[in-house]
Amino acid sequence: MPSKTHPIYPTACGWNAMLPPREARPGLAQDITVDHAVIGAGYTGLATARRLHELDPQAQIAVLEASAVGEGSSARNSGFTAAEVLPRTATPKSAAAARGQSAVMRDAFRWLTDIVSEHGIACDMQKTGAIRAAATAAGEASLRKVLEVARTNDIPHKILSRGDIQSRIGSDYYRFGLHLSDMYLLQPAALIRGLADALPEPVTLYENTAVRRLDRDGGGWIVHTADGVVRARNVVLANNSFIPRLGYLKLRMATIYTYAAVTRELTSAERPHLGHSPAWGLLPSHRLGTTLRRIGPNRLMVRSLYAHDRQIAQDDAVAQLLARFARRWPGLSHVDFDYVWAGATAFTLNGAPWWGQLDRGLYASGGCNGSGIAKGTLLGRHLAELMLGVGDPNRIPAVMGTASLMAPEPFRSIAFHVVSALERRKAGLEI
Ligand SMILES: Cc1cc2nc3c(=O)[nH]c(=O)nc-3n(C[C@H](O)[C@H](O)[C@H](O)COP(=O)(O)OP(=O)(O)OC[C@H]3O[C@@H](n4cnc5c(N)ncnc54)[C@H](O)[C@@H]3O)c2cc1C
Repeated sequence: MPSKTHPIYPTACGWNAMLPPREARPGLAQDITVDHAVIGAGYTGLATARRLHELDPQAQIAVLEASAVGEGSSARNSGFTAAEVLPRTATPKSAAAARGQSAVMRDAFRWLTDIVSEHGIACDMQKTGAIRAAATAAGEASLRKVLEVARTNDIPHKILSRGDIQSRIGSDYYRFGLHLSDMYLLQPAALIRGLADALPEPVTLYENTAVRRLDRDGGGWIVHTADGVVRARNVVLANNSFIPRLGYLKLRMATIYTYAAVTRELTSAERPHLGHSPAWGLLPSHRLGTTLRRIGPNRLMVRSLYAHDRQIAQDDAVAQLLARFARRWPGLSHVDFDYVWAGATAFTLNGAPWWGQLDRGLYASGGCNGSGIAKGTLLGRHLAELMLGVGDPNRIPAVMGTASLMAPEPFRSIAFHVVSALERRKAGLEI
């Protein structure tokens, strides 16, 4: 049930629910004037706000977030991240592009990890590595091409057989895999909450404050919320797949919902089903496939399912996730989920983000395509630099590309249904 201008979810974010409660910052309750207003307190918005402050310490900066921090997509994700980019579909062109992207990503990633250590953000960030795995012959063929890119781009990896994967994760579902040792796993709600709580003083975060409309106001902008307006010289749209709901980039990105679930705590008798590795994460070989993760000693996370523009009925989502879990761990098919939730991601046709200036004093970055912890940080940080005239304004579009045009509705929904049905068929048991 999407609202007009911001996401509304029927269930809370499981990662946030597993943490001690956090008190949200007060919402906007009066009219204010600032230098920069940032819409959205995800990785992109918080990186923009922090970098604006680093470059211009005197500036007054407001961040407006529709939900409580810890309930947006930046908390609802699977918590896999890395500085090194390894494309899902491998070609010589994508290998070269990934090298360029990794070069800019490394800097931003170091900036992020420095913030995490400087502020002691307890988000359980561990360089555990992650497995990319294939359950089918087609999945294995596609992963073997990715292996070539890993070799060409010097990305540390190890080939895993069915037995190797089974020993790590306890399931014999996968026939081939790559262990990528440079990948990190983290608790995403703890990270985004920590980043929000570590914002420097002149940045004021207003939670539960949804932006409804933007208007031009002479040389600046008026940002409308239910209980006050923000007048600002510059406005940043960092609300990802909901940027089009404020009237911008409608032909550049679409909202895709995807789902995650976490099991109840397994008993000591059930725990051997999770394999020998104390912490592991597994990414699928097909883009519609299922992501898996062990959480702590005795829970499992399953992330799967996609829906365009509208969320799936909760019962249906739960049933489909349970089926995917049971297929991989038949010995745990009696285990229920404690948490099941949806999250919105921004899909672009060519996989590139939209990043840059939309109008005088109006900037945007969106189109995470399902991987935004490091990418959102990178794009938000550089967006602040673009706004303040620091660095090369063409570097990010040159390296990351620009979201291409996509069809308007109703053609877009029709195309989504047709393509996803074909892809689901191709993906088969990778789902
Ligand atoms: C289930 C799932 C699994 C994922 N797994 C991974 C993963 O393992 N690794 C990874 O890197 N990425 C993953 N992603 C993607 C990742 O979560 C996103 O790329 C990331 O959140 C993008 O950050 P962002 O700041 O650009 O956007 P968001 O996190 O979407 O932040 C935008 C914020 O804007 C707010 N907002 C929207 N509209 C308004 C409005 N009108 N007014 C005010 N605020 C508004 C939203 O509430 C939201 O908090 C996953 C996503 C999902 C849903």
